[in-house]
Amino acid sequence: MILNTRYTKKEFEKLLTEKLFNEFAIDIASATDEQIYRALALIARGMLSEKRKRFIARTYGANGKQVYYLCMEFLMGRSLKTSLLNLGLCGVADEVLRDYSMKLDNIYEQEPDAGLGNGGLGRLAACYLDGMATDDIPGTGYSILYEYGIFKQKIVDGWQQERADNWLPGGGVWLKSHPDQAVEVRFDGEIEESWDGVYHHVEHKNYSSVIAVPSDMYVAGYDSNGVSQLRLWQAKAPGFDMDSFNAGEYGSAITKSANAELISKVLYPNDNHIEGKILRLRQQYFLSAASIGDIAKNHLSQYGTLENLPDKVAIHVNDTHPTLAIPELMRILLDECGYTWEKAFDITRRTFAYTNHTVMSEALEKWNEDIFKKTLPRIYQICVELDHRCRADLERTFPGDEGKINYMAVLGDGQVRMANICCYVCHSINGVSQLHSEIIKQSVFHDYFLYSPEKFTNVTNGIAYRRWLLAANPGLTGLLEDTIGPGFKKDASELKKLEKFKADKKVLSALEDVKDANKVIFAQHLKKVTGQEIDPHTLFDVQVKRMHEYKRQHLNALNIAAQYLYIKNNPNADVVPKTYIFGAKAAPGYYMAKQMIRLICKLGALIDADPMVREKLRVVYLEDYNVTTSERLMPASEVSEQISLAGTEASGTGNMKFMLNGAVTLGTLDGANVEIAEAAGRENEIIFGMLTPEVNDLKRFGYHPSGFINNCPEAAEVLAFLERGWGGESFHEIVNNLRTSDPYMVMADFADYRRAQNDLSGLYRDRGVWNRMSLMNIANAGIFSADRAVNDYARDIWHVKPIK
Ligand SMILES: *Cc1c(COP(=O)(O)O)cnc(C)c1O
Repeated sequence: MILNTRYTKKEFEKLLTEKLFNEFAIDIASATDEQIYRALALIARGMLSEKRKRFIARTYGANGKQVYYLCMEFLMGRSLKTSLLNLGLCGVADEVLRDYSMKLDNIYEQEPDAGLGNGGLGRLAACYLDGMATDDIPGTGYSILYEYGIFKQKIVDGWQQERADNWLPGGGVWLKSHPDQAVEVRFDGEIEESWDGVYHHVEHKNYSSVIAVPSDMYVAGYDSNGVSQLRLWQAKAPGFDMDSFNAGEYGSAITKSANAELISKVLYPNDNHIEGKILRLRQQYFLSAASIGDIAKNHLSQYGTLENLPDKVAIHVNDTHPTLAIPELMRILLDECGYTWEKAFDITRRTFAYTNHTVMSEALEKWNEDIFKKTLPRIYQICVELDHRCRADLERTFPGDEGKINYMAVLGDGQVRMANICCYVCHSINGVSQLHSEIIKQSVFHDYFLYSPEKFTNVTNGIAYRRWLLAANPGLTGLLEDTIGPGFKKDASELKKLEKFKADKKVLSALEDVKDANKVIFAQHLKKVTGQEIDPHTLFDVQVKRMHEYKRQHLNALNIAAQYLYIKNNPNADVVPKTYIFGAKAAPGYYMAKQMIRLICKLGALIDADPMVREKLRVVYLEDYNVTTSERLMPASEVSEQISLAGTEASGTGNMKFMLNGAVTLGTLDGANVEIAEAAGRENEIIFGMLTPEVNDLKRFGYHPSGFINNCPEAAEVLAFLERGWGGESFHEIVNNLRTSDPYMVMADFADYRRAQNDLSGLYRDRGVWNRMSLMNIANAGIFSADRAVNDYARDIWHVKPIK
């Protein structure tokens, strides 16, 4: 039976009245929007906490297996709307507020985004909490309670500035702290080993403790009994060091406590790039040790032994960031439970699974052995032993192949290699799209694929589609209900029923009306919050994602500049008027990405100041792209720019949000774009650029951008134009980079991208054709739901069954 969904208006009004009175001693009529937000959040939290308790009790009752999903990032965004939606409370809450002349939509605006992540990876983890809850899979996410999430972005004269994201004052209502369940995490110090004739003892001396205090939030499933938990660890100093203080070492006593608490202070703002700092290593071990300590404690209290851990628990390592959970579990099994290495290793292997998220070498995590040893002395010893055993095992499969063995080992070149720990120990290794899962077998993990091919598998990413459809796009949701019935709300595969209407003129024109209305709503919102005016009758062509050379926003900018020059030279040409919308944060230390932002902003300003061009071409840069912006933008988007160099984007999930909302993908055959084009039909996307094997061949033979530039007059003209610049601004750094190294082969794909943009205009002009393409995308987006992805993980990797 599904609980919590049947409240009458009267009952819900009573609930809200009581909550407001208890929290703020105020009644509904006098409460501010913020107080209503807090009260509603507390009501939802309370219900979810109860429901979770029952769900977990049922899980233990059924001897069920649970999933623990470890990730340094959970990009949750807002929670109120999706919580009310999933609990079936949106309607009744709206009715109650209307009586007081309040709008639920205004209440939602009170909530800050929980930005505990950088981009796709963190958002994926958040989507999987939603998917697990909906699929009735008992799941817990573990991460860090960053005091400051991803920075807030300001753009000042084209240049990105970062502001601290102090989200807890508004976001903290979703969290409940449990200091009684704190876990001690030990850093630094030395290890003393002794043998008493029977047992081997390991003692960690002179360590410094950090206390991990958990705070929990809950994620509701849709029309299900499941509720996921997200447990976030906050670093606290273990009580003030009174001894140092009394000895007159005031400074050192205070520094000790500040250092401990620094661990959960701020999220590292790098996407697809490592930051080899000690603080980051401490964060990683802090998350790993606190989570494993918690899992072991729970399991022991239930079963009294860790022997059956792999039967009752699946632990997922999302990218290599939480890899240290693996040697940490080994440590507990060896040092605290007294198992042999063989036994401990067997339990650990059967418990852990690993997902790889990138093949780019700058994102492959390796830690300096000296720093590692000093910071985590016991974990280092375990890694040394893992390395010995790993080398011995590899020697049996690849006798005498020193090169291969050195490359695959846990330690090498003075570094601890996180991906090799995962590949050696975990029972499952997966990529995040079909293409990416093939690439890891053929490139980065090729030798491990030869060693243990049975471990390798694929789970294509998925999104919490109700957030981007039911919650974000009521217009389209209504149209779908009218045409295919309500089944798609629980089962995304039912979207396929829409395909029947691909030649239905009425449905196609209703679809166009929905998109047009959403464009108007977005344009109004933009005007209200930024003052920028855009014309909703122009095509909305959108590229939103992190700013990165491999994602090639500069390729998009080059096309815009080429189009600008074309319009200047052909003022009477009949062009499809387009509005290009960008949104992206750059890592604060990523100079080239910041230059790319400047280029796009300055192009926008140049065009804005040119009355002859601005009717036909506009560029807007949205400040501070985040989950909430994405929810506003997707319903209004018509073209989804997914233009990474083939072989670099592991999957992408933004591409799926666009598809679901009826945008046509203008993209390369990279990541999940391949599967998107396959699902919707290639004729319903606009595909351009080199294929992955062509990219690899070009690299092998030696890539020289000059050849491509010299063969394409338009490319040469655009580069010269940007190099010259305007209004005292020049873009010579980007141009130089593209002329000389062009690491992501922008120039090699430029001409075909121009061709594709041109084809796109032709297709867009034919409204019948375009609307059909849009419909085919919506109808085939179902396989990209997180419900499906979680189901794949549960069946193929975690071996977990839903608790019904
Ligand atoms: C979905 C999402 C992403 C991922 O976008 P990609 O295009 O797949 O890189 C990044 N940031 C936010 C805020 C998102 O919602």
